[in-house]
Amino acid sequence: MPVNMAENLAAIQRRIASACERVGRNPESVKLVAVAKGVPAQRLSGLIAAGHARIGESYVQEFLSHREAVGEQAQWHFIGRIQSNKIKYLVGRTGLVHSVDRAKLLDEFERRAAAAGVTVDCLLEVNVGDEDSKGGTSTDAALGLLRHALGLAHVRVHGLMAIPPFLDEAEAMRPYHRRLASLRDELQAACGVALPELSMGMSLDLEVAIEEGATLVRVGTDLFGPRTYTSSERN
Ligand SMILES: *Cc1c(COP(=O)(O)O)cnc(C)c1O
Repeated sequence: MPVNMAENLAAIQRRIASACERVGRNPESVKLVAVAKGVPAQRLSGLIAAGHARIGESYVQEFLSHREAVGEQAQWHFIGRIQSNKIKYLVGRTGLVHSVDRAKLLDEFERRAAAAGVTVDCLLEVNVGDEDSKGGTSTDAALGLLRHALGLAHVRVHGLMAIPPFLDEAEAMRPYHRRLASLRDELQAACGVALPELSMGMSLDLEVAIEEGATLVRVGTDLFGPRTYTSSERN
């Protein structure tokens, strides 16, 4: 099925702009992350040609092959589950890692980043729906995780990320977005640090997420069309 990247991109940007307008936010305060899982590299090149270069990857293997095909002109975000033995592939190659959810990962990022002489910019992923199937720290453990991160010299935490339960209606996801935003406020107050970024909202619910304060929305399906990928492409 042919996909018109420029048209799809413009449609998403219009959705972002009108959600911002409803709540009096500057559209430039919301950054689109184009979620590339299962997307052929050619289509990513089409997206970049259409003027968008911020790409979110879920699987390390696919990230590396996309990066090789598309090159370094893109800004690569990593949004998938992280195994500590894969961290070496992320350090120095990613602009932002959204999905850091435990101290062991922070320590490995610190070790690798220190050795490479770079800093890792990340978000802490929170399991806002308390789902066994999902990654993310519990809301209760988030403060401890942030404090741990604040003790590391080569890791900078910029905010929080969540993948709420998949529901049929965007409106039903609002309480989860609200919970992430209020947790962010609590953590900022408790630690006296700024956590400006909230990565929340996907194809279905980006408007609701923006209304609740999202600064990064992660959109796959509505940008690239329905996904077709095989399990061999994962990790
Ligand atoms: C796949 C994925 C998305 C994009 O979901 P769509 O519904 O296709 O827009 C966003 N965030 C994460 C973490 C994902 O894995």
